[in-house]
Amino acid sequence: MTTLNGKVAVVTGAARGIGAGIARRLASDGARVVVVDLSEDAAAETAAEIVAAGGEAKGFGSDVSDEASVTATVERIVAEWGGIDILVNNAGIIKDNLLFKMTVADWDAVMGVHLRGSFLWARAAQASMVAKKWGRIVNLSSTSAYGSRGQANYSAAKAGIQGFTKTLAIELGPFGINVNAIAPGFIATDMTRASAERMGMEWDDYVTQYLPEIPVRRVGEPADIANVVSFLVGEDSSYVSGQIIDVAGGPAH
Ligand code: NAP
Repeated sequence: MTTLNGKVAVVTGAARGIGAGIARRLASDGARVVVVDLSEDAAAETAAEIVAAGGEAKGFGSDVSDEASVTATVERIVAEWGGIDILVNNAGIIKDNLLFKMTVADWDAVMGVHLRGSFLWARAAQASMVAKKWGRIVNLSSTSAYGSRGQANYSAAKAGIQGFTKTLAIELGPFGINVNAIAPGFIATDMTRASAERMGMEWDDYVTQYLPEIPVRRVGEPADIANVVSFLVGEDSSYVSGQIIDVAGGPAH
């Protein structure tokens, strides 16, 4: 069923993984989707797949942590599609290490993509949303926000996103803009595959080790997150704002 009816939806970090799943879902919901990723070629490839499946999409290269790059990309979107109605701040990286081994560069890189990136995109996108008195922002947090060994940088960034989300909901609510966050648990993507590799474990063993901790006894897929994004950017969630929704196959904290 088409519900988003040509609304312009930007999904950052959408060339692959959870972002690509969200981009596909919003396109099938009827949105015109802007796939943003570091590599314009990779973004364009995912956008082309969406178009081949009957959706509307464009792929733009942009580093979410770079103010000039975000400004230039938003200008392109406004010029080509007139504005932004929906923003999903999904781009992410991990640079895991125990605190005593964590470098300042790895701390700053993680803060730069998750926190600075979400701030830069939300600040840029709210202008067209405020003008239309309608908008939706969904930020990707993580259950790592509640504490995760070896992820001081990532868990601080993902906890920061939760406070950022609630504050934006308060500031932007009067302009018809709802802001929520999703905190995924274990989702099968390149990010979790890289974690398995870093721990020297085969993927199947890594998954098997986690399953007893997940009440529904399966790991998540990008579509599990995309389903919730689809709800949060539609009209059925218009009285839901400032919430952090754990999507983790069970209670996460
Ligand atoms: P992923 O497979 O590693 O994909 C992340 C995407 O973000 C990649 O396409 C990457 O581009 C892009 N990206 C990285 N830095 C960027 C930047 N500076 N500017 C623009 N794009 C950038 O990760 P994922 O698992 O799909 O995760 C998506 C989001 O969900 C992240 O915010 C992550 O923290 C969050 N999350 C994931 C899980 C999980 O279990 N997978 C759990 C909780 C939360 P490149 O390919 O060029 O690097």
